[in-house]
Amino acid sequence: MSLLIVGTVAFDGIETPFGKVDRILGGSATYIGISASYFNKTCNLVSVVGGDFDNENIELLKKHSINCDGLKLVPNQKTFFWSGKYHKNMNKRDTIETQLNVLETFTPIIPEKYQNCSYLMLANLMPSIQLEAIANLNQKPTLIITDTMNYWMDNCLSDLISVISKTDVLIINDEEAFQLSGEKNINNAAKKIQKMGPLFLIIKRGEYGAVLFSNNRVFSCPSFSVKKCIDPTGAGDTFAGAFIGHLTSTRDNSFENMTHAVIRACAMASFCVEGFGVNGLLNVGKETLTKRIETLTKIIS
Ligand code: AMP
Repeated sequence: MSLLIVGTVAFDGIETPFGKVDRILGGSATYIGISASYFNKTCNLVSVVGGDFDNENIELLKKHSINCDGLKLVPNQKTFFWSGKYHKNMNKRDTIETQLNVLETFTPIIPEKYQNCSYLMLANLMPSIQLEAIANLNQKPTLIITDTMNYWMDNCLSDLISVISKTDVLIINDEEAFQLSGEKNINNAAKKIQKMGPLFLIIKRGEYGAVLFSNNRVFSCPSFSVKKCIDPTGAGDTFAGAFIGHLTSTRDNSFENMTHAVIRACAMASFCVEGFGVNGLLNVGKETLTKRIETLTKIIS
């Protein structure tokens, strides 16, 4: 079953209590693709980068089984840039800068061989581009999974609501769920958001794990506690990548199987926070990953 990811490929500037980097490979689609590669053999990427994007990074994506035929290069423009700073409590971060650059004029053209994908992952991205991606597919995928963030709620809410109405699984964090629903309680927020369209809703709660909602069913998974959290950037995207990677490889979209996907997603996100940027994700050992999945499964049962 094929997986198509439409999202950002970026350069990030990150500051956490453990250090600072000015320009490191990032982007929602980057984290999702790398994370999914630990569960699913291959994925197709649709995104855009500028002339400042180096070949070395494209090779890194390819090395993680990400098909880059749909990665557009705009030589005379700059790659999307985002920078953020974490507080001492790393559950809180401030976005310092978002430079859309190449994203401002990007149209997500879906290469012929990516058409007929069964799973469409709309990674965090401008909602108008997410809508175009859906429209540019010849047929509706079996499952549309969407991720977004407060930036788009602040700037393009009506487009975002339209994306959410076409979404099967929405993945957001608790603050975003409160903002989107206007509620202050997670269960009330979940009820309201499910009425906006998605049959499944996942609310991520940082170091407290994640909760899956569908109709009246609820499943909660704790996060895997790591010895040292160095940089939480991309943990949410990594979560989404493992979630969709598991669904794509098992071809089972039941609530039951989604609970397994959430456990894998929490386990995978724990590797992300152990290094700066994508570094924690580049060499995840199969055995360590399996152990973390088993630990979480035991805690839940
Ligand atoms: P997360 O920590 O899971 O929210 O993901 C952080 C990643 O999302 C970074 O690599 C950023 O490049 C990317 N990102 C930040 N802001 C946006 C945005 N407004 N749209 C799309 N991607 C973004």
